[in-house]
This record gives sequence, C-alpha cells and structure tokens, in this order.
Amino acid sequence: MKILLNNDDLNEALNTVSNLGFVPTMGSLHKGHISLIKKSKKKSKKTLVSIFINPKQFNNKKDFQKYPRNKKKDLQILKKLNVDFVYLPSKKSIYHLKRKKKIKLNKKDKILCAKFRKGHFEGVIDVMDRLTNIIKPNNIFMGEKDFQQLFLVKNFIEKKYKSKIISCKTIRKNNKLALSSRNLLLKKDELIRAEKLTHNLISFKKKLNKIKDITKLLNIKKNELNKLYNIDIEYLELRNMINLKKTNKIKYSKLFIAYYLNKVRLIDNF
Ligand code: AMP
Repeated sequence: MKILLNNDDLNEALNTVSNLGFVPTMGSLHKGHISLIKKSKKKSKKTLVSIFINPKQFNNKKDFQKYPRNKKKDLQILKKLNVDFVYLPSKKSIYHLKRKKKIKLNKKDKILCAKFRKGHFEGVIDVMDRLTNIIKPNNIFMGEKDFQQLFLVKNFIEKKYKSKIISCKTIRKNNKLALSSRNLLLKKDELIRAEKLTHNLISFKKKLNKIKDITKLLNIKKNELNKLYNIDIEYLELRNMINLKKTNKIKYSKLFIAYYLNKVRLIDNF
C-alpha cells in the first residue's frame, strides 16, 4: 500500500495506472466505506482511497472541529484490505489553485440538506471536482447513504469528466441503523434512540401506499417522532429517487430524513 501525501507523489504513482477505482472518504472508516472499497477492488485494476476532512463542506466550524479523526486505525484497515493507494492530502495541496468559476447550485437543487446546510454541497462538489481532476479515476464509488450528495456529484462530475460515479447500497448494522462516522459522536442512549427511530421509519415506509395528503401525514409523523425519541427533525420528505422531486407515489420514492440527536446531525433514506 502506497501512502501519497501530495500531488507530486500522486502524479508519480498514478502515471502508469489504468482502470483506477477511487473511493473518496473523510476517514473514521467503517463497514460502509469498506463495502465501497471492496466494490472498487472488484471492478478496478487498482484502488485509491482518499482521506480528507474537507473544511469547505462544513457550514459550521464546531462541526468540523469535532468530526471524528482516526488516521492510525484507518491506515490499519486499508492495509488489511490491500488497498493500492491511500491519498492523504493537506488542505493546501487540494486548494492551492483558485477556482475560475464559482460553484453554484440550481434553485431546484436547494432542497433537503442543501436547504439547511448552506454552502455544504458547493464545498462537496468543489472538492470532488479537484480530486477527480488530479486523480482521473475511471470509476468513483459513492454511497446511497448520502443520496443527495451522490445525485449532485454524479450530475456534475459525469458532465465534466470521463469518470463514472458508481452508486453503492447503504450498509446498516443488524439493528438497521446506517453506519456513519458520526455515530462515534453518540452516547449509548442516543445510539439506541437512533436505532429505534430507524426501525420506526422502515416500517412506516413499508406501510405507506396510496396517500392523498402526504405532506400532512409526514408533518404528523415528524411531530410524533420528535416527541417519541426526543430528537429534532430538520426534514422528513418523500421524494422521487430519479429526480428528487417531491412525490406522493411510493413507486421509485425514497423517504429522506435529517435530524439532530442532541447536537449530532444524522441523515438517512429508506
Ligand atoms: P464520508 O467519509 O462520510 O464522507 O463517506 C465517504 C463515502 O462513504 C460516501 O460516498 C458515503 O456515502 C459512503 N458511506 C458512508 N456511510 C455509508 C454506509 N453506511 N453505507 C454505504 N456507504 C456509506
């Protein structure tokens, strides 16, 4: 496993590599990340995993500061998986060049997390643009856990580069809670509440069929869940999974949630 610390290391190492799979991460690796890496290893000749906690995508400084960091353990996991390259860039090596054109979301995309985390996806797209430009991977592996991120990055990257975005299923614990690096920030009772909420939403989604007034129903459900699990739901919305428009049809729909448990913000979709 080659550890690459800057763009010179990267260019030298990737010079002769073809069919490269790329897994971008912010570290604190878990089985969700591992599933992406395994998929890349299956589909690609070589796999590169990046670990970069991108300051630009944090709309809240405190959130950036308290984001979990576990570099030593991450490197052990990656070594065990026999990953070919690990890219650990500094902020400077990613952002040393100024953008020519500022990244702006379309009005129709300012929904779900984009509505509540101002500048977040602009930061995600910026870093993905820069990483794709230097790494030039054939395929980029991303998780459906962050569905809106996958949707926006795919639209941007596949228009500009030859790289393809490969979407990967959400990995959950046995009790169905989606794996997330942010789970490390939860206390035991908070984890249990997150697990119960997940169960509740999975069975709620199964029971939904033809609904007349979905907005009203989701509002009632939101209030019920807030009280039941002592959480603060930012949004609970049913949207079409192809275009992310609001829908009241179950076919091709996903139920999206973002919520605060104490001060930790979690997202999921079902
Ligand atoms: P992060 O390190 O949180 O930025 O995530 C890096 C990549 O892993 C993103 O493409 C995420 O969507 C993906 N990912 C995170 N959690 C999961 C999960 N539970 N299942 C599948 N993919 C995930």
